[in-house]
Amino acid sequence: TEKVKIKFPDGAIKEFDKGTTTEVIAKSISTSLAKKAVAGNFNDKLIGFDEPLEEDGKLEIITKETPEGVSVLWHTAALVLGAALKDLYPEISFGQVQETEHGFYIDTDNGKKQVAETDFEKLSQRMKALVKQNLSLKREVLKQADALKLVTGDRYLSELVKDETVNGKVQVYRLGNFTAVSNDVCLPQISNVKNFQLLSVAGAYWKGASSNPMLQRIYGTAFFKQKDLEAELKRRQEARERDHRVIGNELDLFFVDPKVGAGLPYWMPKGATIRRTIERYIIDKEVSRGYKHVYTPVLANLDLYKQSGHWDHYREDMFPPMDMGDGEMLELRPMNCPSHIQIYNHHIRSYRDLPLRIAELGMMHRYEKSGALTGLSRVREMTLNDGHTFVTPDQIEEEFKQTLQLMVSVYADFDIKDYRFRLSYRDPKNTHKYFADDEMWEKSQKMLKAAMDDLGLDYFEAEGEAAFYGPKLDVQTKTALGGEETLSTIQLDFLLPEKFDLHYIGADGEEHRPVMIHRGIVSTMERFTAYLTEIYKGAFPTWLAPQQVTIIPVKNDLHEEYCDRLRDQLLAHHIRVEIDNRNEKMGYKVRQAQVNKIPYILVVGDKEVSENAVSVRRHGEDKTVEISAAKFIQEILADIESYSRS
Ligand code: ATP
Ligand code: ZN
Repeated sequence: TEKVKIKFPDGAIKEFDKGTTTEVIAKSISTSLAKKAVAGNFNDKLIGFDEPLEEDGKLEIITKETPEGVSVLWHTAALVLGAALKDLYPEISFGQVQETEHGFYIDTDNGKKQVAETDFEKLSQRMKALVKQNLSLKREVLKQADALKLVTGDRYLSELVKDETVNGKVQVYRLGNFTAVSNDVCLPQISNVKNFQLLSVAGAYWKGASSNPMLQRIYGTAFFKQKDLEAELKRRQEARERDHRVIGNELDLFFVDPKVGAGLPYWMPKGATIRRTIERYIIDKEVSRGYKHVYTPVLANLDLYKQSGHWDHYREDMFPPMDMGDGEMLELRPMNCPSHIQIYNHHIRSYRDLPLRIAELGMMHRYEKSGALTGLSRVREMTLNDGHTFVTPDQIEEEFKQTLQLMVSVYADFDIKDYRFRLSYRDPKNTHKYFADDEMWEKSQKMLKAAMDDLGLDYFEAEGEAAFYGPKLDVQTKTALGGEETLSTIQLDFLLPEKFDLHYIGADGEEHRPVMIHRGIVSTMERFTAYLTEIYKGAFPTWLAPQQVTIIPVKNDLHEEYCDRLRDQLLAHHIRVEIDNRNEKMGYKVRQAQVNKIPYILVVGDKEVSENAVSVRRHGEDKTVEISAAKFIQEILADIESYSRS
């Protein structure tokens, strides 16, 4: 028989019969390895345990303990879910089967009879029964024509066959009466699908396009070990408790109503208070660092975005232009840069004006995909803490450092600790995707790195993450749901100054080209508020809390006058305070204040009135302390001031 040479990760090379499988190879190495093994990685491609190896190559055996091993289980579990659905609802059709970051989903169309979370128990039972009888899973790699024949009459699967065909072939799985079109790797047997959980069901457009029918996406997860499943369910529970959409609803901070506009948030008074506090804070901070804050319109003539290049490169994310009927086309801006360039260009600039730091809380509109919209963290109308600094080429490094220092100081004020700096370079293998000026790229990338080293800041480098027009520094933070997102960014730009033909008059009296630095410190008000809500779990520090104090009279009628006076005193110091004089028991009101995470609860009864005092209970503490009203005001004012560590 013919042989194939297989090279293992430790460098050893062994010969096997041609057509052998990873399963056989794993068994030949050791029984303990064979027990843990679930798939192979052959020449950097994940392959099934039972796939024959027809050529020489390198093989890594994938075990249950690796992320790839778990993803193989997820794909298998998704098929078991498909088979159970097909058993229970013979008329159901299926779309994509895919893994997610923490599990899997399957898209379904069950006509009018929608699958609901209340069906999960029944479905799980059926899945268990299928696993118990170890229903056999058939995998076939078919020619496209044969696969199409197999799925005739099924609109979704027919389309999937076409989408998934590679080199004329496509993989099909069959389990009971269920058929899936998927090139992903599964376990050869379903018996390992023991510890699973169905999680949720949500609407999802077929292939993500809102012009397509809405399917139902059923999510689940699975693990080889029960304790890993439990850990994942616990993580999800904690994530839910932090989720800004949940907290935002409980604390009445904001809402989004797709009927009035998907991705267009309404800020309720409390959310608006948090936002206003952030806005005032950041404007003051920037003004103190030499920024000039401006206001510019959200609408501009489309020509502006043609000149800037947005219309060519960013159109997909832009709202369509408004045809005003008289030849004018107006566009909602997706970015503020062209607006700030107008401000720069409004006067002749001299080198003595530079660095010129133009900033704005700039409202912008981006037509984000409906499936990507998430609460406040990804929206379609947003207000960015934007700024554009115009510098001479030899000011870049110093300005970059100053901007970084501003960023670090802002993070300290908000007590943000869990973040990573990412230096984003162009992809050296794909230089044509970027603004063409090799020397500029080399120089500026080196300079950013040197500046980071100089400041002693930790960072990681990412090739291919640069903007089209220059390298950048991004600050990556973790979201409650475990993902990573960019909060702040500093970007060098050599291109827009060219496109808009910007100049400054140098010391030599000649015209020179400035460099632009785009920077966002606290990101958009939307994303930042979402982020803060999650890191604080809704318990905002006093300076940000929408309501800082609640005053609770022991008896409404007896203590009302004193409470009013106290409130007015606090208001005179701009402290956000309300009296809770509802007709409820005192204990109930205290609990409500705790649920609403109000930093200070003041209880006022006979004793407090007679001594001009208050009984104070801080959020998260059990003890109550009686102090004079004057002392309380001093304390809370000190607390409000204390955020600023820099
Ligand atoms: P992303 O990769 O998140 O889409 P981007 O790279 O397009 O963002 P920029 O154009 O640099 O982002 O925008 C500046 C900042 O605005 C981002 O770093 C992010 O924090 C925030 N932001 C971007 N898009 C949205 C959105 N749809 N909703 C809320 N905030 C956003
Ligand atoms: Zn910009």
